[in-house]
Formats: sequence, C-alpha cells, structure tokens
Amino acid sequence: MSSSLSNSQASFMTNCVRFVQRLVAPSCLLCSGPSAGSLLCAPCNADLPRLANEHCDTCALPVTSGNRCGTCLTHPPAYDHVCAPFTYAFPVDALVQGLKYRCMLAIAPLFGNAIAGSLDEHPHVIIPMPLADARLRERGFNQAQEIARHVSQITGIPLLPRACRKVRDTAPQAALPWKERAKNVRKAFVCDEDFTGRHVAVIDDVMTTGATLNELARNLKQAGAARVTGLIVARTLPDSFRKRAADV
Ligand SMILES: [Zn+2]
Ligand SMILES: [Zn+2]
Repeated sequence: MSSSLSNSQASFMTNCVRFVQRLVAPSCLLCSGPSAGSLLCAPCNADLPRLANEHCDTCALPVTSGNRCGTCLTHPPAYDHVCAPFTYAFPVDALVQGLKYRCMLAIAPLFGNAIAGSLDEHPHVIIPMPLADARLRERGFNQAQEIARHVSQITGIPLLPRACRKVRDTAPQAALPWKERAKNVRKAFVCDEDFTGRHVAVIDDVMTTGATLNELARNLKQAGAARVTGLIVARTLPDSFRKRAADV
C-alpha cells in the first residue's frame, strides 16, 4: 500500500481540516478574518452594498425626487411594494451565486436576517418565489424557500411554501434581453390558495426587471390578495444608476 495520498485523498483531507478549523475558529467567509462565530466579520458586513434610502416605494429603484419612479406612475405593476436590503453588486452577487449554484446554504440565514431587519410593514403571510419542478430536482433546493424559512422564524409571519406553483419551466431570466422577460414568465404560475383580503409577501433572491414578481403578483391578486410585497435580497440597478453611483 502506498504511504502517500492521492490527489483526491489529499484534497479531501484539506477540506476536512478546513471544515474542522471553521468549527473551532469560524472565520469571515469573505476576508477569512475573525468573525466571532458569524458568517461575515463586522467590517465586511458593514461594507455590503445597501440600497439607497431614496428609492421608489413601489419597485425600489433609486429616485431623485418623489416617492414613485416615472415607470411605476405611468405603468403601475401588479405588486404594491418592494423591500430590498441590498443592491445586486459585489460581494452580494457572489454570495447569491454561492447559495444558488454552490449549495452554500449557510448564506441563507444571512439573507434572511437582512430581509427581516429591513422589513417596513407586517404582511399576513410569506411565500417563496416558486421554482419549477425540473429546476428543483436539478438544484435540490429552492434558495428563495431557504431564505423565507429564516424570515418566517425571525418575524413569526407564517410561511406558506406550497401555496403557489411554477407550472412552466421558463428560460432563465438572466439569459434574456430585458424586453423578453415579461413574455418569458407569462402564465408561469398557479396559486392554489385563497388569499382573499390578505397581504402577501413574496421572497426572492434577486429582482432585475421585476417581470417575475409582477407575474406572480398578478396571480396572487386574482386569488384575492389585497396587497403584494416583494421581499428581495438584492435589487439589480440598471446600468444608468450603476454609472451614476460609480461617478459619485
Ligand atoms: Zn470579513
Ligand atoms: Zn418604481
């Protein structure tokens, strides 16, 4: 028997050592500095890209005056309000992708805490943005549901994980031009619950054009919902806002 380890054994051992080190002295996921048992250290947490205070009350895009952006005034969406602690910029984008594509489920409580901390109203129920069955089988979990579980635990707002279903496996929104996104999600959802008179909060990781939230909100309103709020981890800012932020 060879006394030296193969590459895969060595890599396995390295990962085991890192795992044990993390248990004994947890370090910040972003900078590896001391984090006192939290996923992120205090400076990394303070540096996360927060959404500007002056933003549209409906869609959460930054506004320079008034409490609604021009688009929401002229074409009001089916949802009533969006609450998002972060903008979709580094390192929040990397954390979202780590949760979604690398199964880093430990990130879900961080996002759940951030959403619960920025909640500015008290919805009756929480539902996660549904994932189509095929995508759920492929990924093994719904990241929105993982985040929603924590928001529900922290706030005490009941979670209805199966109230709505995604019945059509749509092309990933990120792969489509903005103009195609509303068409892509049309008739994608079915709501099985009677939401008459209720304020429903939909939890999702990222909101870009808002087309997916708008389509689900349309279904929720048809099922009787009186108000629909999007509780989103990170709001994507259009290029014009990103350039403006970079110029400041
Ligand atoms: Zn750090
Ligand atoms: Zn708006």
